[in-house]
Amino acid sequence: MSDRVFQKLHILADAAKYDVSCSSSGSNRSNKNKGLGNADQGGICHSYTEDGRCVSLLKILLTNHCIYDCAYCVSRKSNDIQRAAFTVQEVVDLTINFYRRNYIEGLFLSSGIFKNADYTMERLVSIAKKLRQEHKFNGYIHLKTIPGASEELVHQAGLYADRLSVNLEIPTEEGLKLLAPDKSRAEMILPMKYLKNEIVRFKEERQIIKSTPTFAPAGQSTQMIIGASGESDKHIIQTAQHFYTKFQLKRVYYSGYVPISHDKRLPEIGSQVPMVRENRLYQSDWLMRFYGFKAEEIVNDMYPLLDLDIDPKLSWALRNQQLFPIDINRADYNLIVRIPGIGVQSAKKIIMARRFGPLRIENLQKLGVAINRAKYFIICLGFQQLYADKSGANIKQYILAQSSSKYVKNNSEQLSLF
Ligand code: SF4
Repeated sequence: MSDRVFQKLHILADAAKYDVSCSSSGSNRSNKNKGLGNADQGGICHSYTEDGRCVSLLKILLTNHCIYDCAYCVSRKSNDIQRAAFTVQEVVDLTINFYRRNYIEGLFLSSGIFKNADYTMERLVSIAKKLRQEHKFNGYIHLKTIPGASEELVHQAGLYADRLSVNLEIPTEEGLKLLAPDKSRAEMILPMKYLKNEIVRFKEERQIIKSTPTFAPAGQSTQMIIGASGESDKHIIQTAQHFYTKFQLKRVYYSGYVPISHDKRLPEIGSQVPMVRENRLYQSDWLMRFYGFKAEEIVNDMYPLLDLDIDPKLSWALRNQQLFPIDINRADYNLIVRIPGIGVQSAKKIIMARRFGPLRIENLQKLGVAINRAKYFIICLGFQQLYADKSGANIKQYILAQSSSKYVKNNSEQLSLF
C-alpha cells in the first residue's frame, strides 16, 4: 500500500468511527508496549448476518469532505480537520487486498457528501459494482444511502450491497432542523420507503422466478444520535418503533453524542451521554423486537425517561405490579417472557419443560432463569415469595442490593474516542 493511500486510510477509517450502524464501537484501548491488537484505531468493525454469524468489515468513509454543516458531525464543512478522499479504485483495491489476507469479510462504506447526493452515491455504487462484477467479490457489503440520491442509484446500490442504511441522525424533526438545517426528514424517508418497497418486491418475485437477483438481502438499518438535541427517551424509542413498523428496518443503532465543539445549540464539551443510557436504549429496542413490548409500555408521558439504575423490563414490571405474581406453570409464553430474569430462551424452555410436570424453583434455575430477579414476580410449585412491603420501590431496592455490580457500577461514562 502506498504512503498516500495509507494516510487516507488513517484519516477515513478514523472518521468512520462515529458511524455505529454496525456492531462495534466505543473502545479506545490502544496498543502499548508492542502488545497484540489495537482497538484505538478505526478500520475494522463487526456486523451480524441473518444467521447469527459475526463478520468483520473494513469500515471507512469514501471521503470526509462534505458540503453540509451538521453541527454534531466531525466532518461538517466548518470543522477545521484534515480532509481526504479515496478514489473508487483505491477502495476496491483495499477491500480485495484485505479480504485476500483474511483481515476482513466485507466492507462498510459511508461518506461525506461531495458536490451533491448523486455524485457521491454514484461513486459508492461504482465501488460495490466493481467488487461484485469485476472481482466476483462475495463478501458482505454495507453501503450508506445518501438522502437525495436518485432512485436509480439507490436501486443499483440494492443490487450490489447486502445491507443499505439511511441515517436518521437526530430522533426528532425539530432537532434535525436546529442542528442540520440543510437536511430534511422527508428527504431521508424517501429512500427508506423506496428500499422497503423494493426489498418486498424482489422477495416476492424471487418466489415466482428463481433467477431474480437479490436486493439488499440483509435489509436496511438506521442510526440515531442520542443526546445532541435534548430529546427524551420517549421520543427516541417511539421514533424507533415508528421506523421499525413503517419501513421494516432490521436494526436501529443508537450512538451517544460525544460533544466535540463549542456550539450553543449543542451540549457542552465534557457532558457526554453516559454509556448506560445507550445500553438502556438497546435493551428497550430488544424488548420491542423480541419480547413483544410496545414503545408506550416502556416509555410514555408519565415515564419519558428510562431508569438508568435498572433495565427497562424490570422497570416495566415494577410499574405494573398488578400483573404479578405470574404462575409459571399456567401462564402463556407472552407473559412468561415479560418476567424479569427470564429471557426468550428460558421462556421457551419453561413452556417445553412444564409439559412433563409442574416446575419448581430448582427446575427454573436449571433452565437458565435468573432467580434473584424472577423470584419477586413468580409463583411455581412450592414457591411464592412473601414480602413485608411489596411496593415497586422496595423490590427495586432488594434487587439493587443483591446485584450492585450489574446495576450500580454500570453507570459509567462513555469511553472517549480520542
Ligand atoms: S451530511 Fe453527513 S457527513 Fe456531512 S456534515 Fe452532515 S452528518 Fe456529516
